[in-house]
Amino acid sequence: MHKAVDEMGIQSTFRGYGPEQGYDFLREAVKGYYKKHNVDLELDEIFISGEYEKNGDGTKRYRRMAELKSVELVFERAKSDLGNILDLFAKDNTVLVPDPVYPVYVDTNIMAGREVQFIDANGENEFLPLPDKNVKADIIYICSPNNPTGAVYNKEQLKEWVDYAHKNKAIILFDSAYECFISDKNLPRSIYEIEGAKDCAIEFCSLSKTAGFTGTRCGYTIVPENLGNLNKMWVRRQTTKFNGVPYIVQRGAEAVFSEEGQKEIAENIAYYKENAKVISDTLTECGIWFTGGKHSPYIWLRCPNNMKSWEFFDYLLNNAQIVGTPGAGFGRNGEGYFRLTSFGSKENTKEAMKRFKNLFKA
Ligand code: PLP
Repeated sequence: MHKAVDEMGIQSTFRGYGPEQGYDFLREAVKGYYKKHNVDLELDEIFISGEYEKNGDGTKRYRRMAELKSVELVFERAKSDLGNILDLFAKDNTVLVPDPVYPVYVDTNIMAGREVQFIDANGENEFLPLPDKNVKADIIYICSPNNPTGAVYNKEQLKEWVDYAHKNKAIILFDSAYECFISDKNLPRSIYEIEGAKDCAIEFCSLSKTAGFTGTRCGYTIVPENLGNLNKMWVRRQTTKFNGVPYIVQRGAEAVFSEEGQKEIAENIAYYKENAKVISDTLTECGIWFTGGKHSPYIWLRCPNNMKSWEFFDYLLNNAQIVGTPGAGFGRNGEGYFRLTSFGSKENTKEAMKRFKNLFKA
């Protein structure tokens, strides 16, 4: 990245707008990464993403510039690829979203005026709902490993969704933002590990969780050529509304996929997994039901003593000064549940779990 910064200071090596789909050096790196998991991709199927957010946060200077020029303010973010893909679909397409789940899927569709149907994820199906043949949908969101529940679909379960999509001529929007946390080789990191998925699925991934790109912003979206018009329409959409992720950031992302980068990431993820184990062990000791924490940074627990999500939030905050995320924020079925994260320091995690144990150990 530092080298790329230097290059940007010299006229002959300066890089400006585009290519909107991303530089080939990074698309090649993503292709190589998928190949390691036995998925073959063409370069034209890989789109490097960072996205514009209208009227999003910007520095004071840019906000002032926008005021003066009275232009719409746009800043880059990655998460919106998940919402902007909806530019490709008709308004009357119906959408199927698991409940609970990462709220972006629901909110973006509601904003676009689309009808959303929910499929129940709960303790009975271990937060991994399977298709219901009586429900018809055109667009299906799947997030695995899941935010917030940490649950991961196995290959057989994902195959059921792929078969359902084929039968209903539906498209799966598969969010694999947490794939790097999967340590069991038998669990799929990409939906394209499932036969037939390239004919019915678009995949979204992010370097935010893999390599801490929450500040630099970079991810990638896979739109298979088998999806025909959708691939071409996405090219058109991106070239119309987007000028590409900055060169410096893409060089940083390329480093993530290098041998050294992968080694450093593995160490980082191992660190968070140790935190997840400290949390899981504490919950087991306290006799509290939970999922996740194994192939995910998140631990999803049932609030003790039948407390509601926000009641538990207040209780933890007031009695142990621990902060977590109330499950109710992720959907109706999240009520009565709570999400803890392993994205913290080892010291803080241990201290928090010591206090947790003092409160709940029988
Ligand atoms: N998908 C899921 C399931 C997430 O939890 C998040 C962030 O929390 C994202 C996508 C967004 O990733 P990015 O940082 O690339 O916008």
